[in-house]
Amino acid sequence: MPHSADSPNPRPPAAPGDRLARRLRAMRKERAWSLDRAAAETGVSKAMLGQIERGESSPTVACLWKIATGFQCSLSGFLVEWEPQTSDALFRTADSVRDRPASDDMLVAPLFPFEKRFGFEWLELTLLPGYVRQSEPHAPGVTEHLAVVQGAMEVCLAGEWKALKAGEAVRFAGDRAHGYRNLNADKAVCHNLIHYAAPAGAA
Ligand code: MN
Repeated sequence: MPHSADSPNPRPPAAPGDRLARRLRAMRKERAWSLDRAAAETGVSKAMLGQIERGESSPTVACLWKIATGFQCSLSGFLVEWEPQTSDALFRTADSVRDRPASDDMLVAPLFPFEKRFGFEWLELTLLPGYVRQSEPHAPGVTEHLAVVQGAMEVCLAGEWKALKAGEAVRFAGDRAHGYRNLNADKAVCHNLIHYAAPAGAA
């Protein structure tokens, strides 16, 4: 099979808000969840979920994480339209990986969005100075791998902040409360590989 790369001139993608609106509606329908139920599962207000579903709101990354966690699904599924890729080699261009709007204090670039057969998503996270986030536990069995590639940051594990600088890495159970922060004057960039446990009964 030939190598494949992101097309250099893709047709203009649907507005992120539209894609997100469709995705959220579809996932809620799949689960037959009311807006009330979705609000209870995600901790995001019913009003906000309604706005997102109508394409009226562009949620922050923090809000998207809450939604993904409540639905027990990957974050990248909300960020990009992605079909499983079957080519032997898949090259990703810098631009296509990083077409996220830069209006957040955490920038997420999905290097490799979630695919079921691999069971992980691989994200590049940029934490701007002052970024602090405490994360709800992800779905049971989720394991996070974090490698700092630029600057320095801290992760909160079992209630304790641990420093990590470029070149250092950590693996931890993502199904417990954890946090990320950057109290430095410069941005921190890390790779975050999130592995999801195989669904029960999967081969
Ligand atoms: Mn996390």
